[in-house]
Amino acid sequence: MTREEKAKKLEEIKAGMEKDESLPLKKGATRLVFGVGNPNTQVLFIGEGPGYWEDQKGEPFVGQAGKLLDSVLYSVKLPREKVYITNVVHHRPPANRDPLPDEINAYGKYLDQIIKTINPKIIVTLGRFSMGKFLLNAKISLVHGRLYRVNWNGGNILIVPMYHPAAALRSSVMMEAFKEDFSKLPACIKEASKIEIEQTKLI
Ligand code: URA
Repeated sequence: MTREEKAKKLEEIKAGMEKDESLPLKKGATRLVFGVGNPNTQVLFIGEGPGYWEDQKGEPFVGQAGKLLDSVLYSVKLPREKVYITNVVHHRPPANRDPLPDEINAYGKYLDQIIKTINPKIIVTLGRFSMGKFLLNAKISLVHGRLYRVNWNGGNILIVPMYHPAAALRSSVMMEAFKEDFSKLPACIKEASKIEIEQTKLI
């Protein structure tokens, strides 16, 4: 798909979500927070869910955690216009509570369509809810910052789990790990390209 085709498809998915009255967090939210960035990116970031500011503005990661995310993205020369950023749930959970498994499931069918459309080389998961979609029962403290090839929806997908930026803001130890993991992202992207080449050769 070209960038324009991907953008059009994402608009269709968004329109479908806006009409979907069964989405469990819709009632309590101000607006849908679908995603932002370049639909043709190699790197897709998946966070947890919108907070207060995201719910107000309709864009992911625009509060304090978003400022940190922007600064680390900038540090690896991947500003938000170059990547795509979305969440596991696309409406704000009441009082910013954690999303529940049923809620993650309900939004999951749309998230799967977003992933399929963007078809990134790498997915960076931010926090344990997003990681849990791909790496079942993994412990984030043990797996963060490394590239994993996982079986997902009948194919292979490359995942780099990272701490959530809000967690990094709460602890200097996590902040250090978060920044270090991000500094390794360009190498992970290079590695991901090699894996694709090797797979193509095998075929
Ligand atoms: N935290 C998230 O996980 N996602 C956002 O969009 C904002 C804060």
